[in-house]
Amino acid sequence: MQLFALDQDNHPVAARHASKKRDYICLECQAAVRCRSGPHRQAHFFHLKPSATCKLSGKGIEHLQVQCRLRQLLPEGECFLEHRFPELGRIADVAWLPRRLIFEIQCSPISSEEIAARNRDYASLGFQVIWILHDKRYNQRRVSEAEQGLKDQMHYYTNIDAEDKGQIYDQYETCTGSFRLKRSLPVAVDLSQPKENRERLFRPNWPLHFAGDLVDRQFRPSLQKETLSLAGSLFKWLLGWYDQFLQTLLERSCK
Ligand SMILES: [Zn+2]
Repeated sequence: MQLFALDQDNHPVAARHASKKRDYICLECQAAVRCRSGPHRQAHFFHLKPSATCKLSGKGIEHLQVQCRLRQLLPEGECFLEHRFPELGRIADVAWLPRRLIFEIQCSPISSEEIAARNRDYASLGFQVIWILHDKRYNQRRVSEAEQGLKDQMHYYTNIDAEDKGQIYDQYETCTGSFRLKRSLPVAVDLSQPKENRERLFRPNWPLHFAGDLVDRQFRPSLQKETLSLAGSLFKWLLGWYDQFLQTLLERSCK
């Protein structure tokens, strides 16, 4: 599923403007695609023959909804969905060109090598990639390879569903090895408001951050209080866990 395809003259066409009766060409694999839409369904292109290798073919409805949410959120005329970078042979999910930002939405598994390769490719053109990982696959008890690869890189999470309900969010978490022990409540992030990460006290590898995220909360007293209670609840939970651990040790030594 995808939002853009090429017409027979090689011009990009948005699914919402496409005819349902004509064939179009996939941006990624050049195969034939058609448009479909409905009263409760976002207009999108689908491959006439599903392709296992085409990245656009594999995108699900949640992926489209996150893309569309970003289009609504970011300034019109500055932000482009499925933007092609022919010099890299890549198609960005969302490109905010004047700000030199790329948003990559990930609902399916991806290797840490592929993440590093995309980050490196876009950086060679001066773009910063922000990864948005979907709850469908990520933010689970087991920390995926992708999340381990993104530990020090810019990323947020999303739970935007097929009905367009949900948000893009940030969180505190504690992990041990490949297990996520505890996570805070999600805090909403406003991706239309990038800010420079000047102090670099927290997330030193992030060149920027966004309004409402955890970096932002360090510097805004009104948000700090809320963040402290989030961190506090996490700390209490850790203390409880430690107490329990000590008790088990004591019980064992007394046997
Ligand atoms: Zn394709």
